[in-house]
Amino acid sequence: GVPEVPVRPVAERRVSRQIQVGPVAVGGGAPVSVQSMTTTRTSDIGATLQQIAELTASGCQIVRVACPTQDDADALATIARKSQIPVIADIHFQPKYVFAAIEAGCAAVRVNPGNIKQFDDKVKEIARAAKDHGTPIRIGVNAGSLDRRLLQKYGKATPEALVESALWEASLFEEHDFRDIKISVKHNDPVVMIEAYQQLAAQCDYPLHLGVTEAGPAFQGTIKSAVAFGALLSRGIGDTIRVSLSAPPAEEVKVGIQILESLNLRQRRLEIVSCPSCGRAQVDVYKLADEVTAGLEGMEVPLRVAVMGCVVNGPGEAREADLGVASGNGKGQIFVKGEVIKTVPESKIVETLIEEAMKIAEQMEQDGAAS
Ligand code: SF4
Repeated sequence: GVPEVPVRPVAERRVSRQIQVGPVAVGGGAPVSVQSMTTTRTSDIGATLQQIAELTASGCQIVRVACPTQDDADALATIARKSQIPVIADIHFQPKYVFAAIEAGCAAVRVNPGNIKQFDDKVKEIARAAKDHGTPIRIGVNAGSLDRRLLQKYGKATPEALVESALWEASLFEEHDFRDIKISVKHNDPVVMIEAYQQLAAQCDYPLHLGVTEAGPAFQGTIKSAVAFGALLSRGIGDTIRVSLSAPPAEEVKVGIQILESLNLRQRRLEIVSCPSCGRAQVDVYKLADEVTAGLEGMEVPLRVAVMGCVVNGPGEAREADLGVASGNGKGQIFVKGEVIKTVPESKIVETLIEEAMKIAEQMEQDGAAS
């Protein structure tokens, strides 16, 4: 019952083919999906399913699991069957695990062409097995594991090298009439990565999986990913995204969702419009914003809540939002849809905002259900 508020996305999307990762469509105008990867040993089925459940709860739509050993390959069937979201098997060195993953009912398989030895000989068989099972393949080119031939040709993992590698691998599948493919060309440098995806986007119509690889710890990785995805998505490029952080995977999902919301590629949910505070502030804005954010966490309706430190921009912003507070003189003026509904002492600001937010959310949900 969450009402759809029409929003204008940042850009027209690039026209791409559509593939189906389990129930999630990728490309061809489908909403940009958010994915992540488990950090558990895949062979530990219980722990992996537990983490997938947490990822699902945080809004993850597709999950990838690593498959470096036979024990991991053996676990895939149970994980794929019990996971609430489609599972992609991530395979680096062993073609036999690609077959195992397809047989296991994984929603897709990611292969890293630079790493699979004698990949050429196996392509035909992989294409046939994938086609028989309707399993799409992600060609996952990565700067760190670029084909040696291309590394020699270009000297390093340049955008051209990444793109040439990806398109060459795609052509190996195309020879066998297999086009159920999405592609990534990841690099840890957003500038190289942006250029690579732009070139790739111009040269094929496959759906693209965006990622800045080894983006780093949460703060740096968040910024690198936001900047790189923002640059690409604002040109319509990108069909599914994975934020890589050296942090728990649910954090990656939160960041990914926020990036899409910021670009109007997804309905915004709770949005706190809070001022940075300055010498004029008459209230501790940081604390107030944190408390309001914490109090409203998990709210699914698109609610703009303004938290402003003083009366300079305060009333204006608070009026523009669904709900807001402008503080001053130890009091907070509470606004709902542009009207001052009450003035409360500073100590009551947070609870009043939360109370009013709940009322508005309830109303929005009723309106949504009614329409
Ligand atoms: Fe400063 Fe007031 Fe603006 Fe906040 S709203 S930044 S306190 S002038």
